[in-house]
Amino acid sequence: MKCDDNVHISDLKYVMRKVPYYIEKIYKDHGQELFITGTTNSVDEDGNIIHSSKSKHPFGYAFDVRTKFWKYQEQLAVYREIKEMLGIAFKVIFHSTHIHIEFNLL
Ligand SMILES: [Zn+2]
Repeated sequence: MKCDDNVHISDLKYVMRKVPYYIEKIYKDHGQELFITGTTNSVDEDGNIIHSSKSKHPFGYAFDVRTKFWKYQEQLAVYREIKEMLGIAFKVIFHSTHIHIEFNLL
C-alpha cells in the first residue's frame, strides 16, 4: 500500500483506518498496489482541493484511492467490488479520477 505525499492513514478516524487493508486485496487481484491519494486533505492531480462543504474528509471519515492505472471498465469493476465488500457501513462513490470511500453511519 502506498500513500501520496503528506497523506497518512493515521489522519483517519479509527473506524476508517482498517478499511484500506480490507480493499488492498481487490487492488492486488486487479494487478495494482493500493494507492491512497487523499485523507483529510483530498486534492486532485493538479493540487486543487476537491471536497465539497459537506465532505467528511476534513474530519477523517473519508479517503480517496487512485484508479487511473485502469481503463474505465476495470475502474468500475473495482468500484463494485469495494462497494460489495464494505457493505452499508461505508459509502463508496465512483468519480472519474478516483474512488471515494467514507463512513456512512454518522
Ligand atoms: Zn473523496
